[in-house]
Amino acid sequence: MKNKSFLPWIILFLVTLGSIPVILHYKGFTSAKIVGIIVVIAIVAALWFWRINTRKKSPRKPKVSLSVNDKHWMKEYISFYKRLNKEDKLIFEDRVGIFIANVTISEIGKEKPEKETCLYVAASAVIAFWGLPYYNYGNLREVLVYPSNFDMDNSLNKHGIVNGKVHHGGLMNNTMILSLPALVKGFQIDNDKKNVGIHEFSHLLDKSDGAIDGIPNYLGEEDKKIWVGLMREAMENIRNNDSTIPAYGGTSEAEFFAVVTTYYKECPSLLKVKNRPLFEFLDEYFNQNKK
Ligand SMILES: [Zn+2]
Repeated sequence: MKNKSFLPWIILFLVTLGSIPVILHYKGFTSAKIVGIIVVIAIVAALWFWRINTRKKSPRKPKVSLSVNDKHWMKEYISFYKRLNKEDKLIFEDRVGIFIANVTISEIGKEKPEKETCLYVAASAVIAFWGLPYYNYGNLREVLVYPSNFDMDNSLNKHGIVNGKVHHGGLMNNTMILSLPALVKGFQIDNDKKNVGIHEFSHLLDKSDGAIDGIPNYLGEEDKKIWVGLMREAMENIRNNDSTIPAYGGTSEAEFFAVVTTYYKECPSLLKVKNRPLFEFLDEYFNQNKK
C-alpha cells in the first residue's frame, strides 16, 4: 500500500527532473527554474505526505511478550484459550501481548495493575474480536478496572448495578470501565452465556463502525438486512420468554448484539442447537479469515 501511494510522486519527480535538460536545450532558463521549484515543492509535499501516512499506519507499540507463567495461567483460567489448537494459541498470545502494550489498564486503588487483571481484560478483547480479519479496538485508550460494581454515574458502590460500561462520545469516549469481581466471575463460570469483559468488547466491535446500534462492523448491505431480520425475530422471542438468550438481550438492539456474541463465544454448541440460523450467521461472521 505504501509503495503504491508513493508511485505518483516518484513518476512526477522523474518526469519533472527529466524535463529540465530538454528545457535547457531549448534555452528556456526561466522555465527550467520554474521546473526546479516544482521539484522542490514536490519533494517537500511527498515527505510531508509520508510523515502523515506513516504516523497513521504504525501507531502500534511493540507487543509485550508473555512469560511461560502467563501462558500457564491462561490455560488454567481462560477456557476459550485452553480450547484453541497450538497455532491459534500463538495468535491469541500475540494479540494479548499487543493489547497490553497499546491500551492502558488501570486498577483503581492500586499503583500498578495486577498481571492477572491485565490478562483478563486483554483476553476479553481478543475473544470478542476472535476470527475477524481486523482487530483494532477503535479509539480505546484505557480500561479502568474498579474493585466493585458501580453506579450509573461511574461512582464506586459495592451495591451498584453496573459492572461494565463503554462510552460513546464525551470525555470518556476512549475509556471502558469494568468491575473486577464481575470480570473474574465471567471467566470462572464459563457456561452461563455471560461474561462482562466479552460483553463490553462486543459493544466496541459494534461501535467500530461509528454507532452502537446492534449492527456490527464489516457487514455488507445484504448481510446487514439478514442480520436485522434474525435480530428482530430473536428479540421478539426473548420478550415472549421463548428463548435461551439471556433476557438482557431483549432490552435493545445494541444489548442484543453484545449478549448474543457472548453467548456464541462461550457456548457455541448450545446456540447451534437452540437457534441454528443465528449461530450460522455469527459463525460465518467470526470466521472470516478461515474461509
Ligand atoms: Zn451492554
